[in-house]
Amino acid sequence: MSEQVFVLMDHGQGQIRSTSWETLRMGQLLAAETHASVTAVVLGHQVRQLAEQLASKALESVLCCDHPKLTQYDPDTYCAALGQLLEAEQPRLLLLGHVYQNIDLAPKLAASLGTGLVTDCIGFKLQGEELLFIRQMFRNKLNADVAVQSATPWIVTMQSGAYSADELQEGQARLEERQLSLEQVSARRRQLEAIEGMKGSVDLTKAEVIVGVGRGIKKAESLEMIRELASLLGAEIGASRPVVDNEWLERERQIGSSGQNVAPRLYLSCGISGAIQHIVGIKGSQCIVAINSDPNAPIFNVARYGIVGDLFEVVPALIKELRAAKS
Ligand code: FAD
Repeated sequence: MSEQVFVLMDHGQGQIRSTSWETLRMGQLLAAETHASVTAVVLGHQVRQLAEQLASKALESVLCCDHPKLTQYDPDTYCAALGQLLEAEQPRLLLLGHVYQNIDLAPKLAASLGTGLVTDCIGFKLQGEELLFIRQMFRNKLNADVAVQSATPWIVTMQSGAYSADELQEGQARLEERQLSLEQVSARRRQLEAIEGMKGSVDLTKAEVIVGVGRGIKKAESLEMIRELASLLGAEIGASRPVVDNEWLERERQIGSSGQNVAPRLYLSCGISGAIQHIVGIKGSQCIVAINSDPNAPIFNVARYGIVGDLFEVVPALIKELRAAKS
């Protein structure tokens, strides 16, 4: 069996998507621990420039599959393309980001190859020689270690924020073109138009800095100081569920198991206790700073820096310092 780890690199508007960079980092770590090599796969049309960008990472190779039929995502064409590639190369597994497109593609691909699929994983571990994938269960209360029994290549999708793209190792990879024969593949789906998400909708997954606000804020009117703090930090505002349930902020700002998963550089939590359902949404953050009046609040277990204090004193003090620093 070939010990190769393949990572599919999703892209759009000429850019590789953040979840794919994170998944590539998982590929590097997994390859290092299992003495395998890691290969990035780019599907699309006129995607050479993306493949060249990937060639500066610490990978064995970058496989660039360029074909006019791959210009836009289509499940039949993409499944056929990946199927051909995987059958020819026989890697041990293919990693993909757990994003909408791959939630559509991965099961179809696994079924067409007759191989195992593990979805929405947050990591991996080795138990002796056995490679296990970690995925959350029962609303993230339990982590399950999943062993795949099928033939390879296994198809594995990775949760956004599970790994940090900032830790990607630089290097030099071999860039290779792969010709695919897709002439016989007929797409059954026709894309009419690509429409941007609702105007005013918030995509917290791309935010570099987030000020998270919880029930400790007590009432909607007090959010004004959070808005000012966020503005000074160039941050988006996120919220715990009670804040959203009370309609103090829009539902799309909810972070957690029934909201968004975020992976900012800085997550500044104000008056959030740190319930597991919230923590699962912020665990991809690089640095968590928590303000809470209760020294035993569970948020301090995941925070790098904790401020035990009244947010109605701490936030105005931070605003004052930030204003002074900016003037
Ligand atoms: P609380 O737990 O009430 O905490 C408020 C905190 O503010 C306390 O720690 C308190 O010490 C602190 N505080 C109070 N006053 C001050 C002050 N003046 N200064 C500083 N600190 C102060 N929750 C989510 O967030 N996201 C989800 O997606 C989500 N999904 C869920 C799904 C399910 C199925 C279930 C059952 C629950 C879910 N929850 C979710 C709810 C979750 O269990 C918690 O109830 C919620 O996260 C608590 O929000 P909170 O920390 O803002 O409020």
